[in-house]
Amino acid sequence: MKKSAAEVLAELGDHVSFLDEAGGGFAPARRRRPPAAAASGGGRSPAAVEARDLGEIERLVAACRLCPLHKLRTKPVPGEGNPAAELMFIGEGPGRDEDAQGRPFVGRAGQLLRKIIGAMKFREDEVYIANIVKCRPPENRVPHREEAEACLPYLVRQIELIKPKVIVTLGKTPTEYFVPGRAAMGELRGKFGEYKGIAVMPTFHPSYLVRNEGNRELRRMVWEDMQQVMALLGGK
Ligand code: URA
Ligand code: SF4
Repeated sequence: MKKSAAEVLAELGDHVSFLDEAGGGFAPARRRRPPAAAASGGGRSPAAVEARDLGEIERLVAACRLCPLHKLRTKPVPGEGNPAAELMFIGEGPGRDEDAQGRPFVGRAGQLLRKIIGAMKFREDEVYIANIVKCRPPENRVPHREEAEACLPYLVRQIELIKPKVIVTLGKTPTEYFVPGRAAMGELRGKFGEYKGIAVMPTFHPSYLVRNEGNRELRRMVWEDMQQVMALLGGK
């Protein structure tokens, strides 16, 4: 039986309310100059990554020292999921829990993201989850532009290999690389953009939902965005 939007929202709400306050760091509303290079590469990015498969990307990331973030990482977090996923989620960068485990979205925000994925009727092993930077920025700060641009070729190659039908960008940081422009998240969310022929749906970052756990309107908007994604994927 398909759950109603209200049921899903109520469930997500319960989930959010027993999460502790989110660890700081993510600043979705901060405006910065959009990166010129976007995900097409350019500027100071290294040469395109030519890895043959996702495993090779994992090995390259594990040995990577292209930006200063490698110095502080405990474990790199290349991403995880189905190598042929139709649906890909892209976050900002590893936080403390992700850095400790080497897996994306396993902390409080991650639990909420995984709940949303379940509500969308996807199993976690059907989707792919990755981040703009593969190593944790100190204090969970927003990755610097040089760091993001150094790391983007790995993500670009992951996308080329996975060939998703839809990419969901979570929050401002990934959104500005995939839907370049100056618009705020509130304007960008809920409307499909396009990256190399792939539909891109920007939505709010789950840690923003966790930090605003009383805000049902935010949850409703995210769920609406995900319903559009589900519709595009043919309704599961
Ligand atoms: N936030 C992110 O943007 N990515 C993660 O992997 C975890 C939290
Ligand atoms: Fe390399 Fe990316 Fe880690 Fe920087 S964040 S060291 S570019 S893997």
